[in-house]
Amino acid sequence: MRMKRVAIFGSTGSIGTSTLKVVEENPGLFEIVTLVAGKNIERLIEQIKQFAPKHVYIQSEEDANKIKSEFKELDIYFGDQGMEDISNLTDYDLAVSALVGVAGLSPTYNMIKNGKTVLLANKEVLVAGGKVIMDATEEYGATLLTVDSEHSAILQCLRGEEGNEIDKILLTASGGPFFDKEITPEITVEDALNHPTWNMGKKVTIDSATMMNKGFEVIEAKWLFDVSYDQIEVVVHRQSLVHSMVQFKDGSITANVGPTSMQIPIAYALTYPHRLSNNIEKLDLFEIQSLHFYKPNLEKFKCLRLAFNSIKLGHSYQVVLNAANEICVEEFLNREIRFIDIPDIIEEMFKRHEKMELTSVEEILKLDSKVKEDTREYIKSK
Ligand code: NDP
Repeated sequence: MRMKRVAIFGSTGSIGTSTLKVVEENPGLFEIVTLVAGKNIERLIEQIKQFAPKHVYIQSEEDANKIKSEFKELDIYFGDQGMEDISNLTDYDLAVSALVGVAGLSPTYNMIKNGKTVLLANKEVLVAGGKVIMDATEEYGATLLTVDSEHSAILQCLRGEEGNEIDKILLTASGGPFFDKEITPEITVEDALNHPTWNMGKKVTIDSATMMNKGFEVIEAKWLFDVSYDQIEVVVHRQSLVHSMVQFKDGSITANVGPTSMQIPIAYALTYPHRLSNNIEKLDLFEIQSLHFYKPNLEKFKCLRLAFNSIKLGHSYQVVLNAANEICVEEFLNREIRFIDIPDIIEEMFKRHEKMELTSVEEILKLDSKVKEDTREYIKSK
C-alpha cells in the first residue's frame, strides 16, 4: 500500500487518539501532516513530538504562541480564521473529520469543496448539513467514508452487493446506560457518562444515554446509503457485537460482527477497501453463545422520538434538533439542567421554529446560532 498523508481534525479526542493508535501500530503506512485540537495543549504537544506534523491548529492564540515557542518550524493556526485556513490546505490524501458538533461543519465542507477524501466521524455534519453536504460531495468529486462503527458495518455489508436492492438497514444501538433502568429526575452526569460498552467523548456519550445519538445515526445512514427513512430500523442490541445489518429483498440479512473497538472501523476507512491486522482480542463465539435484540422504547427515549419527528418535519428541524441538543448537553454537563429536561427543551425549540429552506452552509450556521441563543435564553428563563 502507498503511504497515505493524513490530516486529523480532533486529534486530541477519542476518535483522534484511536486514529493515531492505528497510525502508530502500522509504521510506514501513514504520514501525519495536520493535527487539529481544541484546548488540550498537553496532549497536542505529545502528538507533535511523536508524529511530527507540518501543520497544527489549537483554538486560542495564547496556546498557539506557546506551541510556536517550542516548535519554531511548525505551521501553526488558531481562532476562526485559522480553522478556515487549515481546513483549506490540500497537502494530504485523507482527512479525518472528528471535531464535535456543528463546529465541524465548515471545516468538513472546505475539505469536500477541495475534492478530498473525508473520513467522517462527526455525525452532526450530516445531521445539520444533510443535502447541502451530499450535493457538494457530488459536485466537487469528493469522497465521504464513514468512521461511525454502525455505518462502517453497513458499508461492509454492502460490499459486493452493488445492484442488489436493500430492503432494510437494521441499525443497532447499545441502548446506553438507561435502557433497562428508569429515567428519573435524579440521574446524575456521572450516571449518564457511564456507557455500558463504548468509551467515547462526553458529548456522544450523553447523546447515547438519551439515544439522540441513534436518531442522528438514522439521519446519517439515510444520506450515506441513499435509502429512505422508512428503510431504516433501529434495533437495540446491548452487547454491541453486531455493529449493524442489511436485509436484502430476498430476506437474507448480512451482519457485521466483531470486537467493540473503534480502531477497527477507523482502520477500515484509512485503508478502504483493504483491512489491516491488529492486536485487538478476537471474539470468542462459544463464550458469547447468544445475541439479543430489542425494540427501542420511543415513549421512554423521547430524544429518539424527536429525531424521528424532525425527519418528518424537514431539514431545518434537524438543524434545530442538533443545535438545541448541543446546548442541552453542554448545560447538562455543566449541571445547569437535569437529564430529563433535555427532550422537553428541544421540543420547545421545535414549537418556536418555522420550517425554512436551507441551501448553503452559511444559512445552516445562521439558524444554528439563532437556535443556540434561543435555547440558552430559554434555559436561563426557566
Ligand atoms: P471528543 O470530545 O473525544 O473529541 C473531540 C475533538 O475535537 C477533540 O480533539 C477536541 O479538542 C476537538 N475540538 C472540539 N471542538 C473544537 C473546536 N471548536 N476547534 C478545534 N477542535 C475542537 O469527541 P469524540 O472523538 O468522541 O467524537 C468526535 C466526533 O465523532 C463526534 O461527532 C462523535 O459523535 C463522533 N463519533 C465518535 C465516536 C467515538 O467512539 N468516540 C464513535 C462514532 C462517532 P480538545 O479535546 O483538545 O479540546
